[in-house]
Amino acid sequence: MLLDLVFPRSCVVCGTGGAVLCDGCEARLERLGSPCCDRCGAPTAWPVERCRECAGRRIAFARARAAVAYDDTAKRLVGAWKERGRRTLASLAAELVEGAVARPRAHTITFVPADHDRLLKRGHNPAERLAVALASRWQLPAVALLERAPGRAPQKGLTLVERRRNVRGVFSPRDAVPATVVLVDDVYTSGATVSAAASALRKGGARRVEVVTFARAVR
Ligand SMILES: [Zn+2]
Ligand SMILES: [Zn+2]
Repeated sequence: MLLDLVFPRSCVVCGTGGAVLCDGCEARLERLGSPCCDRCGAPTAWPVERCRECAGRRIAFARARAAVAYDDTAKRLVGAWKERGRRTLASLAAELVEGAVARPRAHTITFVPADHDRLLKRGHNPAERLAVALASRWQLPAVALLERAPGRAPQKGLTLVERRRNVRGVFSPRDAVPATVVLVDDVYTSGATVSAAASALRKGGARRVEVVTFARAVR
């Protein structure tokens, strides 16, 4: 990218010169794997079907998986990826996802559409770029299957109940949706956004939706 030519490359997490993510910071990212909750992907002491975080909740996706914990290192990486829009970071994120998450058995890969205002401000949707990068690694077609209604408040700073209410009815299917879909977002926080998006995909005809994100909040 042009920016990389103008500014010398330095680690977006710690500022060390050389690579966009230095070896030390890459090693510091906490990889998520097993054991975890089969449904929502929360790390657990032993494999479980549902966990404290997702038990008793109505969740529209079949399972959710993420590559790394959303800790301070991941937050800085995602922040730079969102705000500076570096394509190299989307492909780096895809590489980390591929290393941590088994390729879902699905027909299509799609993404959580960005809020219109934020899309204008940033000029890109990180979830879309991650989906496109994953699509080429997983040999799946990347298709924009969802629309997002404008004018909702950002999820940041809201409680779980508020988050669920805030995203209710925000997403709708654009077209006929394939039976099995991978739904991509950059970060899984409460699961409210991806669940609302998965619900819209199911309304559009999906029977099974698997969520894949780069990072996941770990409580
Ligand atoms: Zn670093
Ligand atoms: Zn769970």
